[in-house]
Amino acid sequence: MQELAFHSMDVAKLAGAQYADIRIIDDIGEDISVKNGVPAVNQSSDIGFGVRVIVDGAWGYAASPKLTKDEVEKTTKLAVNIAKSSAMLIKEPVHLAYEPPHKDKWNSTYIIDPFKIPLEKKLDLLLAIDKILRKDPRIMVSHGELSFWREHQLFVSSEGAEIEQTHLRSGGGFAATAVDKETGEIQTRSYPGVQADQYMQLGWEVIESYDYLANAERVRDEAIALLSAGPCPNGEMDIIIDGNQLALQIHESLGHPTELDRVLGMEANYAGTSFLTTEKLGNFKYGSDIVNIVADGTAPGGLATIGYDDDGVRSQRWFLVKNGIFSGYLTNRALAHAANEERSRGANRADGWGSIPMIRMTNISLVPGDWKLDDLIADTEKGIFVTSNKSWSIDQHRLNFQFTTEIGWLIEGGKLTKMIKNPTYQGITPQFWNSCDAICDENHWTLWGVPNCGKGQPGQRAEMSHGAAPTRFRKVKVGLG
Ligand SMILES: [Zn+2]
Repeated sequence: MQELAFHSMDVAKLAGAQYADIRIIDDIGEDISVKNGVPAVNQSSDIGFGVRVIVDGAWGYAASPKLTKDEVEKTTKLAVNIAKSSAMLIKEPVHLAYEPPHKDKWNSTYIIDPFKIPLEKKLDLLLAIDKILRKDPRIMVSHGELSFWREHQLFVSSEGAEIEQTHLRSGGGFAATAVDKETGEIQTRSYPGVQADQYMQLGWEVIESYDYLANAERVRDEAIALLSAGPCPNGEMDIIIDGNQLALQIHESLGHPTELDRVLGMEANYAGTSFLTTEKLGNFKYGSDIVNIVADGTAPGGLATIGYDDDGVRSQRWFLVKNGIFSGYLTNRALAHAANEERSRGANRADGWGSIPMIRMTNISLVPGDWKLDDLIADTEKGIFVTSNKSWSIDQHRLNFQFTTEIGWLIEGGKLTKMIKNPTYQGITPQFWNSCDAICDENHWTLWGVPNCGKGQPGQRAEMSHGAAPTRFRKVKVGLG
């Protein structure tokens, strides 16, 4: 593979490229699911390469699944020709921030290789969960899945970088949907992650650590109990948001708005533009003083944890919000200068070999505080506690949002009391984060995986994680009234 990569770089330079890189990627995946007792298994493998060049200040990209010398040559020349055509249209030539040409090998860590666990064992687990969930006839839909993926990537650049990386990701989860045929009420409960599934860049040990079987009965019973639970109260009150819901809040209300290409108006298709414009950097009060949010490409087990990004930039950890002040963007080599930075933050990633990299979220997390959850509930006179995302909406600038979770409980006199269905809260991003007054400690903190973040046109999928612990926000608008 190395030789093909070097050959591509030689062809690109001879054809006039100022810069070139190639990513040769092979991956395998296994997705197993059981829906209402019916199993489905999908095992896949894929290989290909993508060549990216800069000619006359413009990008060109071409990719192919055929790993032969001829095809590498043809594809590299195609990328150069595309760049030459693009060069006639560009306003400003691409300028890449300096990065030393790293030569390195990086592997994600794990304990148990999930591809060595027999398929029967995986199916048996899902079937056993299904049996527990559908023990009550009011559960009309049960769904469980497991998913494993390994990617091996070689990155070589015309600057001399040679980086080989292997990523292994494991995860899964399950959900039960209860239906009350008389009232038409439908309620779903899931476990353990953001919208049912939890993924980490680890091995089979992730699945074992969440003890699915021990939680199946509770999930089933909560789905059924929700059928007759009371509604979410209306009005302004304190809200304690569990980590798996707050993870998505961070994703939508801080992650996407700090993507520098979105800020600059270069990416508006999937999720709109951003209110975090460049004059706000270093002075905008995003949240209360206890709000610290870090971007971390090195977080152990994070889905976006990498040795190097698809620009060949070493992964880093930096603050996006420090003591409540907005203090950083997600950048790549081509746009770092627009944030007045000399070096890239290493947030350029592509969805496989067929796509050109762009700025994607790395792992973005809320730094834990020092509360115990029991103490935080006891300290709350009147409010709600909510967990597990059900749905959300956020406007084009990422300011006005509304989230609904699967389940919640009233907090009355410092105690969790009645279960409530369809708990909903809404707010305006900076006001909301400025109302944050208590964050639980690291024992309550989990890195929650988001495996399906969409961006770009044509659309690309990316994976990242968000760490969060239960957190209290004061006087938030809850309910739909
Ligand atoms: Zn997203």
